[in-house]
Amino acid sequence: MNSEFVSSTVDLDRLPQNDKPHIAMVGRSNVGKSSLINALTQRTNLARVSGSPGRTQTMNLYAIDNGFYLMDLPGYGYAKTSQEQRVVFADMLDRYLAETKQLKLVLLIIDARLGPTAYDQEMIEKLFSYELPFAIIVNKIDKLKKAEEASLLKSLGEYYPDVQIIPHSNVEKGKRDVILRAIEEGVSRIPFLT
Ligand code: GDP
Repeated sequence: MNSEFVSSTVDLDRLPQNDKPHIAMVGRSNVGKSSLINALTQRTNLARVSGSPGRTQTMNLYAIDNGFYLMDLPGYGYAKTSQEQRVVFADMLDRYLAETKQLKLVLLIIDARLGPTAYDQEMIEKLFSYELPFAIIVNKIDKLKKAEEASLLKSLGEYYPDVQIIPHSNVEKGKRDVILRAIEEGVSRIPFLT
């Protein structure tokens, strides 16, 4: 998979204006979004992995195999973000989700140790209300015992029966295939008639 950083911006109007599909990633800060982008693209440092949460405050766009874009949306729910900043991020996220016609799939990443937080649930409601196809990636699954993992996946499946739930770990190798398949399906999805 070839991948290339395209742009980092807070301004939707500065994103490339073309018909290439977008696959977006969203989740609370520190959930492992940057690590996941690096794992998927098999690059060690395409997205910056930070030990301190709240760093990714821009929309970061990557071109994959020159066929589609991977959009890294700003992480939400970071406690130290000011109220003012929070509103700016929320507006940016909202506009991106509502207005990007090329958006084919959203990968919502949640932390296996926390389960879906209030912020995650808010995002899920938003994705449903915008009728955006999405999958939930349960990241850091390596932190759970097998029984805990099974119980979390079962309750997520009951709660969101029509949503694909993908357990994942960035520290365990060979776990990217299911996500790549979901992305492939997303990319080739027939666009909504507008
Ligand atoms: P982001 O803020 O969502 O981009 O998160 P990062 O990718 O920067 O990761 C935040 C922290 O979580 C880093 O210390 C990562 O090494 C760690 N991390 C990311 N994914 C995993 C995972 O699957 N398992 C474990 N145990 N740690 C992870």
